[in-house]
Amino acid sequence: MQGESSLYDFAMGTAFSITLYKHGQYKVLDEIFTNIKTIENLMSVNIPSSDVSRINAAAGIEAVHVNEKTFKVIERAIYFAYLSGGAFDPSIGALTSLWGIGNDNRNDSRNDYHRIPLQDDIDKILSLVNWRNIVLDSENNTVFLTQEGMALDLGAITKGYTVDRTVDIIRNAGIKRAKIDIGGEIYMLGEKTDKTPWRVGIQDPKGVHGGIIGFIQTGETSVVTSGIYERFFEKDGIHYHHILNPFNGYPADNELLSVTLTASSAMDADALSTAIFVLGYENAGFLFETQPGIAAIFVFKDLNIKMSGDIDFTLTNKAFNSAMQE
Ligand code: ADP
Ligand code: MG
Repeated sequence: MQGESSLYDFAMGTAFSITLYKHGQYKVLDEIFTNIKTIENLMSVNIPSSDVSRINAAAGIEAVHVNEKTFKVIERAIYFAYLSGGAFDPSIGALTSLWGIGNDNRNDSRNDYHRIPLQDDIDKILSLVNWRNIVLDSENNTVFLTQEGMALDLGAITKGYTVDRTVDIIRNAGIKRAKIDIGGEIYMLGEKTDKTPWRVGIQDPKGVHGGIIGFIQTGETSVVTSGIYERFFEKDGIHYHHILNPFNGYPADNELLSVTLTASSAMDADALSTAIFVLGYENAGFLFETQPGIAAIFVFKDLNIKMSGDIDFTLTNKAFNSAMQE
């Protein structure tokens, strides 16, 4: 018997939905739910007892022993910081707090702290953003931030990590087909029964939620988007969004509205989509050479769309123009 079992809920300040293409899998869904909550309790900056909050509270003072899951995510985050030349930087916490733009992992409704900081404050805080000042000790699973006031924010990688661990649970349970969506970070697991490709809608970065610009057709993959219309505020006609440029301290400002990545790991796609968004289309090219498994759809402010790598995209929204693959 085929059937479906699904779970819809909220965690990490976002909605998630899990669909297992198998009947009656409540135990597996329970395990998935518990695991999502466990990760949130370890990595949220808004839960005072989380590993990340404890690391931040001990910045400049002492190393903090953390769960091995947290350690692994921070280790991987540092790798992507290195790889992207600091465009993705998990030590961006002090800067994200300063702006307060719909911060990830907010698990309460008080997520409207946003403000345009003073240039002086941005300059001061920028000296606290540097992934090289995160000291890891893999023998003791400890993390130390060398400067007082420095803070981790794993908001650009945690959801992807959570998606990957959810996939592990589903695979271990022997379930062959599933769709995972944690705050728009998607993983299509296995094949459809009729062997046709999965179709995944690509969100219209200018439109209301649910609107799409087109869809991709794909086998098993993760699909992750970073864009300026996810979490933002507007002041005096200027659009301020939640992906910050660690080099100047302001929301990343380039020609892009959004970038969607496909990759075998959602965690990698999560970190990389943020990095690519900060770098912009022209400067992000080198990442595609070091990570051959990834492909991307870039949506530009002039409504052009470009693709990179092996991706089967069909444009359905006539407001946009799909250029030739580059
Ligand atoms: P979303 O949360 O909408 O999926 P991202 O994966 O791009 O989008 O993550 C954005 C979040 O990551 C921000 O809310 C913030 O917490 C954090 N962040 C912002 N800029 C950076 C950056 N340059 N490097 C690492 N993390 C960042
Ligand atoms: Mg991300």
